[in-house]
Amino acid sequence: MNHGRKTLPDDTRPAASKDPRRYIVRDVSRALTPTGGFLRGFGFSLNPYIGCAFGDSGGCPFCYVRALPVARAADGPWGNWVIVKRNLAELLERELRALAGQGRLDQTTIFMASATDPYQGIERRMRITRAALERFIDYPPRRILMQTRSPLIERDLDLFGQLGTRVIISITLETDDDSVRRAITPTSPSVERRLACARRMRAAGLFVQIAVAPMMPNHAERFAAMLDGAADRVIVDTYFDGDGANGRRSRALKLGDLYQRLGYEGWFQPGAEAELMDALRQQLGRDRVLFSRAGFNAI
Ligand code: SF4
Repeated sequence: MNHGRKTLPDDTRPAASKDPRRYIVRDVSRALTPTGGFLRGFGFSLNPYIGCAFGDSGGCPFCYVRALPVARAADGPWGNWVIVKRNLAELLERELRALAGQGRLDQTTIFMASATDPYQGIERRMRITRAALERFIDYPPRRILMQTRSPLIERDLDLFGQLGTRVIISITLETDDDSVRRAITPTSPSVERRLACARRMRAAGLFVQIAVAPMMPNHAERFAAMLDGAADRVIVDTYFDGDGANGRRSRALKLGDLYQRLGYEGWFQPGAEAELMDALRQQLGRDRVLFSRAGFNAI
């Protein structure tokens, strides 16, 4: 099917932009990547970009991707550049068609995205994620999990509606307290914007999960009450269970020091999630509350 492909420029940064990041447009050699490790319940991950504009020094200090080899795909620190995968949709179509030809498409599960945010700001203009969704409509896999912290995801409600129960919308919301959000991830969308987005996606009939990942300081009962109407299920993850290394990666990122500087030191320790887990189970019921790796892989 012709999706009205456009020729994309090599440098996507508008001349007058105040955005200090470099945006690099590149062709890549494949779309789907077989998963393993933390996401081993999924068959593939799909990353429309390399790098993440939420990842600058004011972005996500807990981002483990900055320590992975992929964070050296361009010069400069994580968060200072984003590579746009220009030919992603064409490759994806080819790979999905091959899976269909092998009779495997109906069993295929895809996590989008494991190492970037598919709805970071550049997606507004480049539409790489949207183009991938259009291919999924032509070749629908068993399940696509769309993971983001960005309300821009609502732009694609029309496509998600066509994918229906094949898609899980997963919105990251680490805390109910916007002062905590501002202190740790000031460039992330506000608590209220993300909650409102989740409620609207759910009202549109989509299955919505909220990923409290990684859990940041919160007011357990208030947070649980907020999430009840916004999500079909909630997954809680922590710096110690969710970094794939029993907390070693989180410690290497000096998150303990950050929490101490902010006066949150009691929250940076194993088991700090217990109160929230209890409150969520009471408010939502046990079936709607999942934890860490088992939760993310519940497809
Ligand atoms: S949004 Fe996700 S991928 Fe992007 S910097 Fe934050 S944690 Fe990393």
